[in-house]
Amino acid sequence: MKKLENKVIVITGAGMGLGLATALEAAKEGAFLSLVDYNAEALEKAQQQIKESYPEAKVLTVVADVSSEEAVKNYVEETVNAYGRIDGFYNNAGIEGRQASLTDYDLNVFQKVIDINLMGAYYGLRYIIPVMQKQEYGRIVNVASVGGIRGVMNQTPYVATKHAVSGITKNAALEYGRFGILTNAIAPGAILTPMVAEAFRQINAEDPKKAEAEYASFNPTKRLGQPEDVAKLVVFLLSEDCGYVNGQTIAIDGGQSNAY
Ligand code: NAD
Repeated sequence: MKKLENKVIVITGAGMGLGLATALEAAKEGAFLSLVDYNAEALEKAQQQIKESYPEAKVLTVVADVSSEEAVKNYVEETVNAYGRIDGFYNNAGIEGRQASLTDYDLNVFQKVIDINLMGAYYGLRYIIPVMQKQEYGRIVNVASVGGIRGVMNQTPYVATKHAVSGITKNAALEYGRFGILTNAIAPGAILTPMVAEAFRQINAEDPKKAEAEYASFNPTKRLGQPEDVAKLVVFLLSEDCGYVNGQTIAIDGGQSNAY
């Protein structure tokens, strides 16, 4: 039996990075996928890649900006129309914003990070939880960050929104556990995705590989995480194997958040 056999799984930010890696792993484990992203081209490519690797996979794609409540309502409706239910939700779409000190932070970028990372994650929960409540079953994985556990230099709105995601996770767990809905968050450290590659470019534009190597040298495992490391944890949390973990923010960072 595959881990997500016949389970309907919604993944936001599925066009690349952690969302795409998890979509591939979920397809391998037999899921029916509903993939959401605001980058239509990336979403199309992601669908092709999944179909090439797993020709039998069922893949619905919905272009949506998660910071729009109407667009979120629509991706939920399209998923339910296509599959009749939603078993798992990987609430993953997010942006980092720019690197700047707290007092210099551009307010428009600050607001955008809140709109996507906080409101986008919240809208998803607001419209998917009622579907899961009716079924009396659901597994939700929100995406915080190690920046949702501690501070990260020059990333104030990112850190604020990721702490908020961790808080919302606790509330969702408290309020909906009795409906068979388990809600957890993951807190990845630096995982080598397009988002993190861009962060290293901002830290050292001339030699981003140097910034990357330096960062890895502080990690107990002496490497950065790979998207596949995260995908395997998320698939577990989205599966029935996850039976009694609820309201947790689980660090996946090679142990780095234990150091100071
Ligand atoms: P990424 O930039 O590589 O991929 C993000 C995907 O989300 C892209 O396909 C993008 O188009 C999509 N997206 C962004 N905003 C969207 C919106 N408003 N509506 C719909 N789609 C949108 O990023 P990633 O590294 O894969 O990060 C995914 C999540 O993991 C984010 O929430 C991020 O904060 C979190 N995270 C990542 C890391 C890491 O090391 N990569 C660490 C901690 C947390």
